[in-house]
Amino acid sequence: MSDSHCVYLLATNGHLIGTASGVTTFSESDLVNTPIIASYPLGLIENADYRVAIVAEGDLPTSVDRDALCGLRTMLAAVEDESTYTLLSSAAQIVTWHESFKYCPRCATPLEAHQDELAKVCGSCLHRQYPRISPCIIVLVRKGDQCLLAHASKFAPGRYSALAGFIEAGESAENAVVREVEEEVGIRVKNLTYCFSQSWPFPHSFMLGYMAEYDSGEITPDGEEILDAGWFSASNLPVLPPKFTIARRLIDRFLIEIGESLPEDSTLFFTAE
Ligand SMILES: [Zn+2]
Repeated sequence: MSDSHCVYLLATNGHLIGTASGVTTFSESDLVNTPIIASYPLGLIENADYRVAIVAEGDLPTSVDRDALCGLRTMLAAVEDESTYTLLSSAAQIVTWHESFKYCPRCATPLEAHQDELAKVCGSCLHRQYPRISPCIIVLVRKGDQCLLAHASKFAPGRYSALAGFIEAGESAENAVVREVEEEVGIRVKNLTYCFSQSWPFPHSFMLGYMAEYDSGEITPDGEEILDAGWFSASNLPVLPPKFTIARRLIDRFLIEIGESLPEDSTLFFTAE
């Protein structure tokens, strides 16, 4: 493949370059005078070889309007399809990894970007370091024709979603579902069903999506991670995540299972920073 097919996303100081309209892309010729610290592959999209390149803040192309730059959540708010979400999610996680893992964990030598793989390599002991992925569960708990949605402390006012949390060392995903639900809202669940998965770039989560049935207990938000939670039916749903998120896919699956039509996707889950 020729270089003319390369499309670059840029990052500096751990942040992708983009505006409220979305992430900004650059061609090879746009970057001809831009020193690149490291560059990693993001994959082929419609015959274009996408890469994310790390540059020093002072070396950003002059075409970049610094006053218009914004954060990842704002860029994600402009996303309308899953392939763009995947591109942005991958790039953001790689940039976070690049900034967070600079030294070999075996011998402390500075790591260098691998030429061919999505990896860093130690020039001294040849250890390879791959991007970090943290497994998490996300679960939609159902009770008849109602589902449990929660407002987390990190959400904007009025936003609700399924429950989620990190899987601990040595723990199965199923045990993590039971533990997280009990810790966050104080109820027991049963009859877990695995549905699908999704990568989530805050900062490098890999979400395993489950449905579960209510078993026992009263909803009692933990007051720290979860500020409010309740049972919602199709007729009283709160502001929902957009369709390409795993949380929304779980909610849509639930609505289909209870024979309800899907709500309009007129609301946004991601909030401006
Ligand atoms: Zn080493």
